[in-house]
Amino acid sequence: MSEDGGLHRVRAEELEGLVAAIFAAAGCSGAEAARIADGLVGANLTGHESHGVARVPRYLEWLRTGEVEADQTAEVVSDAGGLAVIDGRYGFGATVGREAVEFGITRAQETGSAIVGLRRAGHLGRIGQWAERAAEAGLVSIHLVNVAGSTLVAPFGGVDRRFSTAPIAFGFPVPDEPPVILDFATSLVAEGKVLVASQGGKALPDGSLIDPDGRLSSDPTTLYGALAPGGPRDHRRGLGAIRTMGDHKGSGLALMCELVAGALTGSGCAGPPRGQRFANGMVSIYLAPASFGSTEEFETETREFLDFVRASRPAEPGGAVLLPGEPERHTRSERLRHGIPLSAETWAALRSIAAGLEVDDSVLAEA
Ligand code: NAD
Repeated sequence: MSEDGGLHRVRAEELEGLVAAIFAAAGCSGAEAARIADGLVGANLTGHESHGVARVPRYLEWLRTGEVEADQTAEVVSDAGGLAVIDGRYGFGATVGREAVEFGITRAQETGSAIVGLRRAGHLGRIGQWAERAAEAGLVSIHLVNVAGSTLVAPFGGVDRRFSTAPIAFGFPVPDEPPVILDFATSLVAEGKVLVASQGGKALPDGSLIDPDGRLSSDPTTLYGALAPGGPRDHRRGLGAIRTMGDHKGSGLALMCELVAGALTGSGCAGPPRGQRFANGMVSIYLAPASFGSTEEFETETREFLDFVRASRPAEPGGAVLLPGEPERHTRSERLRHGIPLSAETWAALRSIAAGLEVDDSVLAEA
């Protein structure tokens, strides 16, 4: 571990070991603790600190209050061949999400396609990780997600919170190249990015938030209310909302994520607030390219089209057109070499949690 401009750099495998030890000490089996650590550290590696180890305190709080339950197994509630519905039973997303995704992949490999509705899953983290898994298995995939019981985002034209940050992800395997992975929240920023900004991390883009009077803001207190250093970040204390991306278009996508992933799956929509348990709902579509006909034509067309897109002249001198998924791959390879940067607040939170659970945190102590 080393210090770098106020950020603490920790080697990925050491951080993963520490986070796994924390969840094992908190009551998860070793296998589940390792899956949780893999998902969180994987998000840090790809540059999405919002879905990384900064979430350890919140995951532990959910475990403590029973919002999420350790070592659940997902249950197949209906299976009509092309469409299956799976209940995550409020288990950790790292476990039940993985089970649902593996189910869909196996089914699509057997039959050419699969649709899987997942309800009542604990936080599924960075949704792109599931699209990456499907792409590794040679499948195109589309994932629509919502968060039951989490209203954070104002609809286009409104100021009151109505949607969750409802992410969407696509994965598209490319022969002899890494897959295209598009993965984003339909809100202008993911809630975790407000969390990171509130902890002294990367500032929010201007106008990401809206206050109750309709004024645009980038101040995390709009969402969380007054902040105490190291204190909890509770969005119930703030009066404002996150805005949707892309004006009416992003707002429409968020609405459809709520309807498809929340209402259709039986997981529940973001609101109205009725004391729902926090849960991710997700509808995933898996497609085997070979079921569409000639694999050779698909491969040639894909490669030629991606080359055509990348060959666009850059808008700025020295710039480049990137494909979705490339920024995450670059960040991953840089962080695997040089370590994962942790903000002082995340580093301190992990130290304090490790001390409370009597977990060896020497990987953090050296800095
Ligand atoms: P973001 O705004 O950083 O967008 C990321 C996407 O844009 C990636 O696909 C990336 O490859 C692509 N991209 C970025 N820069 C690019 C460029 N210059 N050229 C081409 N493509 C580019 O993502 P976000 O909205 O902040 O979401 C962050 C994460 O939060 C996602 O992984 C999402 O799944 C996750 N999330 C999860 C939940 C949940 O409930 N589980 C809720 C909301 C968000």
